[in-house]
Amino acid sequence: MLKFQRFVRAANIDDALEVLRFRKGAQVMGGGMWMRLSKRTVPCVIDLSDCGLDAIEETADEFRIGAYVTLRQLECDAALNAATGNVLTAAVHDIVGVQFRQLATVGGSVFGRFGFSDVLCALLALDAEVELAEAGRVPLATFVDMPYELDILTHVIIKKHDYRAAYRCVRKAATDFPTINTCAAYWDNDWHLAVGARPAKARLLTGAELGVTSAEPTAGELAGAIEAVRGLAYSSNIWGSERYRRHLAGVLAARAIVAAAPYATQEARDAASAACAHEEAIR
Ligand SMILES: Cc1cc2nc3c(=O)[nH]c(=O)nc-3n(C[C@H](O)[C@H](O)[C@H](O)COP(=O)(O)OP(=O)(O)OC[C@H]3O[C@@H](n4cnc5c(N)ncnc54)[C@H](O)[C@@H]3O)c2cc1C
Repeated sequence: MLKFQRFVRAANIDDALEVLRFRKGAQVMGGGMWMRLSKRTVPCVIDLSDCGLDAIEETADEFRIGAYVTLRQLECDAALNAATGNVLTAAVHDIVGVQFRQLATVGGSVFGRFGFSDVLCALLALDAEVELAEAGRVPLATFVDMPYELDILTHVIIKKHDYRAAYRCVRKAATDFPTINTCAAYWDNDWHLAVGARPAKARLLTGAELGVTSAEPTAGELAGAIEAVRGLAYSSNIWGSERYRRHLAGVLAARAIVAAAPYATQEARDAASAACAHEEAIR
């Protein structure tokens, strides 16, 4: 069972940061849904409920998502999802169940940087940053690979663009952890493709590295993207073998790109279909 020796309900982020720095072993709690799985005693847990981090705010240039916004809020926010090709709804709607998503937070999901994370995969393909109390604003793609330091994630920021985006994921069973997840987004004249649950942390491929430059990719570009995605590192666990993941990642990447490019040619669509030719054999 998870136990807390001390519980601090911080009045503001400065107070929370001070407790985090000076109380040995102190830890911020989001929804506590992941933390509660461990059997240990946390010397001091910090609750940020009074810090005003539970809203999604829209400005002219960006969406500011507070760390205590729940996955359910993320799923249901009409303006945010309309602006980002509905990838956030698509990414979270199979995570456990509604009651769970009403408790799990965006802050805990992003700060945790879980390899399987659907949330992280979707956000990574967008123009997203995290705001940390100590380190300030950091691009999400940089944050993913940063070491776990004593800091508090206060917001996730999504900059506004004319996004075309799509999310594709495979689960062995509905609401299970994902076997592989991908998110493709076209913005700022470039494709951004995130591949997660490899099962290592999501990786982002863009531009020449991905091999797709046209807004409406050709069959050749799509074949290049499939090859680039399959060139990433994959490994095996109970949700899928390394070989199956590698194959599936190419299939889902192609499908996500074609779904995000509304005027994709028939040749490109055929190339996406051809990518899954051996899916049954590999499963
Ligand atoms: C059974 C189960 C199934 C799941 N399935 C999926 C799935 O299929 N797909 C998916 O994407 N996710 C899945 N998740 C993960 C889930 O969606 C959340 O990402 C996870 O529960 C963390 O969110 P939380 O709010 O509960 O964080 P917590 O458990 O409270 O915290 C997680 C970690 O982040 C730290 N932390 C929390 N908030 C902050 C903050 N603001 N600043 C700094 N540090 C912070 C905590 O100290 C802790 O180390 C699953 C989780 C569980 C328990």
